[in-house]
Amino acid sequence: MIDIHTHRTETENSLLSLFHDRGIPESGFFSIGVHPWKIPEYNQNDSALIEKIKHSRCLAIGECGLDKLRGEEFEKQISVFVKHIRWSEHYKKPLIIHCVKAFNEIIKLKKDTNPEQAWIIHGFNSKSSVLKELLNQGFYISIGTDLMNNVEKLNSYMSIVPDNRLFFETDESELSISEIYKITAKIKQLDLLSLQNIIKDNFKNCFHIDHNGLA
Ligand SMILES: [Zn+2]
Repeated sequence: MIDIHTHRTETENSLLSLFHDRGIPESGFFSIGVHPWKIPEYNQNDSALIEKIKHSRCLAIGECGLDKLRGEEFEKQISVFVKHIRWSEHYKKPLIIHCVKAFNEIIKLKKDTNPEQAWIIHGFNSKSSVLKELLNQGFYISIGTDLMNNVEKLNSYMSIVPDNRLFFETDESELSISEIYKITAKIKQLDLLSLQNIIKDNFKNCFHIDHNGLA
């Protein structure tokens, strides 16, 4: 079961999300970028970060993004995020996006840059109207553990997100990825294997590779 975004190193079949200053893990796929909360700690050494981005096991850029409730001054966040957009297009790796109360700005940036790479909103947990707009603009949506205790919301999201735009993630939670698949499969009235195959197909389409180790 593919986990598109986790900070826990011990998980399998996952895309390990690394903060910009971390070293490349010995094995497994990862994503790396400057989290909006970490911008004050970023030494602006882009070339060191780009070396990690270029690594063959780096499948995506991020998490990066915009956060209006926390982190660096907003204009600064935008300028750092724009760099990630450029790297994503140049190195042909999708973006994994952290977004808090800045969906209008993220959507505008996507419209303005018209990227070829997929943009994945991680841990989406906002209004249905925002969700619909993101889908209209071609975003992928990654669903995390926050929603597992809110069946009503999860139900409504699942009626909105088409199968071909869906991912799942554990982020920093202790809940296992298999629990997330089980809960969601029940809501979608699918057997577990069908849901796994849906996500594998999305993974292939998004990252341009087979799921290989991420079975
Ligand atoms: Zn995260």
